[in-house]
Amino acid sequence: MAARRKGPPASPPPSVQAWGELLGEAIGRGMARGFHAGLSQLGLTQPGAPFGPRPRGRPPKAVPLPVPADKRCQVKGCPRPARSKGLCGAHYQAERRRNAR
Ligand SMILES: [Zn+2]
Repeated sequence: MAARRKGPPASPPPSVQAWGELLGEAIGRGMARGFHAGLSQLGLTQPGAPFGPRPRGRPPKAVPLPVPADKRCQVKGCPRPARSKGLCGAHYQAERRRNAR
């Protein structure tokens, strides 16, 4: 039986190490490409899709939909939807503050 070597196992020569790293990288890239190809077949690589590249920065503000006249704040010129007592949130607060005095 071969004599068992004592001490830490010998590290592989640098060429083998470099080769191993290259191999690992190649495998990683191959898997990523395969994974991405699979996702694109599922139609999951559009911008904004959960797996796709996330758009940077703050998401664009949702464009407020025009509020129908009967649901609009009673204050002239206020385009916001009425929340309570026919007033939008801001005007309702202002109203309450006015009343609180
Ligand atoms: Zn208002």
